[in-house]
Amino acid sequence: MTIQFRGPAGQETTPYLLTPGPLTTTPAVKEAMLRDWGSWDADLRAVVASIRSDLLDIADAAQGFECVLLQGSGSYGVEAALGSFAPKNKKTLMLTNGAYGERAIKALSYMNRDFISYETDELEAPSAEEVAALLKSNPDIGAVFLVQCETTSGIVNPIEDIAAVAQKTGCIVILDAMSSFGAMDLSMKRMGIDVLISSANKCIEGVPGFTYILARRDLLEASQGASHSLSLDLYEQWAYMQKSGQFRYTPPTHTLVAFAKALEQHKAEGGAPGRLARYKKTAKALRDGMRRIGLTPLLGDNETGPIIQTFATPRDPNFDFTRFYEGLKQRGFIIYPGKLTKKPSFRVGNMGALDHEVMEMLVDATEATLKAMNIKDLTPAE
Ligand SMILES: *Cc1c(COP(=O)(O)O)cnc(C)c1O
Repeated sequence: MTIQFRGPAGQETTPYLLTPGPLTTTPAVKEAMLRDWGSWDADLRAVVASIRSDLLDIADAAQGFECVLLQGSGSYGVEAALGSFAPKNKKTLMLTNGAYGERAIKALSYMNRDFISYETDELEAPSAEEVAALLKSNPDIGAVFLVQCETTSGIVNPIEDIAAVAQKTGCIVILDAMSSFGAMDLSMKRMGIDVLISSANKCIEGVPGFTYILARRDLLEASQGASHSLSLDLYEQWAYMQKSGQFRYTPPTHTLVAFAKALEQHKAEGGAPGRLARYKKTAKALRDGMRRIGLTPLLGDNETGPIIQTFATPRDPNFDFTRFYEGLKQRGFIIYPGKLTKKPSFRVGNMGALDHEVMEMLVDATEATLKAMNIKDLTPAE
């Protein structure tokens, strides 16, 4: 029996990336990278300016906010934002229910800033009431950090309720919107988000290479000298960008032009609402299809976001993740191992340049792979 390989249009020999990023991009995004750009040149400066203003528009933050682009992946952006905005003489309340919240805590520990962590189970969202209680009993908290969609499980946290509570006590809100920005509903102005971090290779569907931080202008102005790091100093990066239209240090030129193309496609799709509609459809096709063949999603339909889905590993003793992964890869799909600490699982991302039909093809490929591995018991492993 020959295995049928199904790659994306325009790149038929490479698999779909069903991961938390990097993602499958469109041929147009890839083609944008076929030219070299001078970092100092006016053409590239125009690209940088338009990216910054488009990102502020998407975040509903055109007035009173600034956008800083920074070399590196999303974690660099999180670390930079904490270095510039986590107060030095007060504590930061760090909300965590997964690996990305944990990573942010680790970054803050590296800088020796004080914090209190509020941890919930990986399959459970934090509560705004608990945040209110913590802020009340700890008046020395000056900032709250949280993740909108924790990509560890795909869970969506109630950012609006928590931001409202934080705002009431005068705390600034720092949001990791890495895997949600550009798809899920998000308005910095309406929701009271003071600082937001995302990166090029998530829902905007660009390629990896830079991160972006959107922040209230007054906070950014006040952050001069706050950063613990030269390369990650957002004030310096912003001041230089304002003055020259350029990055400090070598910019990720090809990533920037690819991202500008990705933003054009984002706009053409109807912005974040348009993208969300497609992601919801792909997520539903994925979850329904996997259920139909006997697999179990670990989060309920109302808890999970439209970004990534976590499934329980089948109990069958023949199941082996590496073989499963290889079987899917041979059929044209790259998935991701689970990141849950307690439950054996695997993840399938549904961000990227793909639609519900791709998910239906993935479900067929999953069924064929499980059959080839002689897996019969699909009930969740303990
Ligand atoms: C992808 C992601 C990050 C950043 O991870 P990198 O590996 O640095 O790209 C941070 N937070 C969340 C929620 C993410 O999904």
